[in-house]
Amino acid sequence: MTRVRQQAQSESVRWLAELRRSADALPDASVLVDQRGRIRWFNHTAGSLLGLFRPQDRGHELGARFAGTELGAWLRHGGMGPVTDIASPLPEGPRLGVMLIPVGRRARILLARDVSAISRLEQMRRDFVANVSHELRTPLTVIHGYLELLDPNDVPALAPVLDEMRTQSRRMGQIVEDLLTLSRLEAQQTAVDDRVAMAPMLASLLREAEALSQSRHRVELVRESRADLIGSSRDLHSAFSNLVSNAVRYTPTGGSIRISWRDVGEGAVYAVEDSGYGIPADHISRLTERFYRVSSSRSRATGGTGLGLSIVKHVLSLHQAELHIESRPGKGSTFSCEFPAARIQRTAT
Ligand code: ADP
Repeated sequence: MTRVRQQAQSESVRWLAELRRSADALPDASVLVDQRGRIRWFNHTAGSLLGLFRPQDRGHELGARFAGTELGAWLRHGGMGPVTDIASPLPEGPRLGVMLIPVGRRARILLARDVSAISRLEQMRRDFVANVSHELRTPLTVIHGYLELLDPNDVPALAPVLDEMRTQSRRMGQIVEDLLTLSRLEAQQTAVDDRVAMAPMLASLLREAEALSQSRHRVELVRESRADLIGSSRDLHSAFSNLVSNAVRYTPTGGSIRISWRDVGEGAVYAVEDSGYGIPADHISRLTERFYRVSSSRSRATGGTGLGLSIVKHVLSLHQAELHIESRPGKGSTFSCEFPAARIQRTAT
């Protein structure tokens, strides 16, 4: 009986050693953290990717071990969702994709992967788009300027052509500006932490909606929340106003548009509801992709660039907020931006 048990024991020890060797051979770093948040075990790759070494790092509290780094900040905020590109805590270290996987009741595994090559390619793509947009800006401004100088009354036969040229040059200018905005947003890690007063913001959005609609729609503002936001006033205004402009552009004359701001749990929601054309369900998940349009002709006819909702998505993600889209073709759409408690300021200052 004792021999059988001894055999089973040495078999288990061999298995354990083999498992550890296999884990050490993995190209990804894995760190096992116990229910108290302390590092229990990590593989060999955790050394080159995260700078963890045995035995000194065993038993450390994971968040405290990476304090003062981007990874530490992510862990402090609960390690929510996988992060696709974050700096390694090592100086000159690789770019990392990280995620926390729950194990059993409260233990977790931190997984980290070297994504430097993908991150470099992404950076090249971003730089390329930003450079092209920047280079196009000056010649477009010149063309646009000359077109504005031409008087259609001088050559009445060419008046429609001139009009079309002006419309198209304005459209190109707007595409370039939107691409530059997207590049700027992509280069940011988080939004600034300014207090954004919602009362004047909502009043200005209402004025914009009325100006765009030119009395073709019923426009209403419902302000149920007294909360303010914490973030970038310029970027939030750009996102909110994109949703207002879409509601006006995709709602036929006689329809209604409601802008609202209300508390939801500890957070708050900004929403724009319209009674417009609506969006078929199979398009909804793709709307925030660059240049994705349900109907190109309708988007162009109303002066769209196809970049508005991409900008909205980026701004919201910088503010840890979520975009929800509900729509029924022929009935209308609601675009809601849900902000977490951390982005809400309720006290008067
Ligand atoms: P665009 O400049 O084309 O409006 P957006 O990125 O703002 O680009 O929107 C993408 C597409 O989503 C639009 O082309 C349109 O098809 C659809 N869309 C956006 N908002 C609405 C809305 N309120 N009602 C119906 N369709 C909408």
